Amino acid sequence: MAYVIGAACVDVTDRSCTEECPVDCIYTGERKLYIQPEECIDCGACERVCPVDAISWDRDLESAAEVHLTDAHRFFYEPLPGQPGPLGEPGGSAGLGPVGVDSDLVATLPRTS
Ligand code: SF4
Ligand code: SF4
Repeated sequence: MAYVIGAACVDVTDRSCTEECPVDCIYTGERKLYIQPEECIDCGACERVCPVDAISWDRDLESAAEVHLTDAHRFFYEPLPGQPGPLGEPGGSAGLGPVGVDSDLVATLPRTS
């Protein structure tokens, strides 16, 4: 199981959550952040600090948010635009740096600002 970042993060991306994550498993796209589901240890620290309540435990997701659980898997396990292959399990966001691109789902969402 893992925590999941939903649509409320899109175009906010203040990165408060990344400061709290003890295993550095929250990765930065262009318009949204993504939790690596296999690296997440389910501690809940990120959920408590998100100013827009974008983060949920995957067992608590409402059906409308489940698409972001599937989307997180796609972000890490399918090649993103401009990437030579899937990100997989990079082992830490600090080492990888910002990914700079989003999943197709997020990239096509209307901009809110
Ligand atoms: S704290 Fe919330 S809004 Fe800020 S980057 Fe993390 S998930 Fe997105
Ligand atoms: S639940 Fe814990 S381990 Fe998982 S992303 Fe949030 S802070 Fe990181």
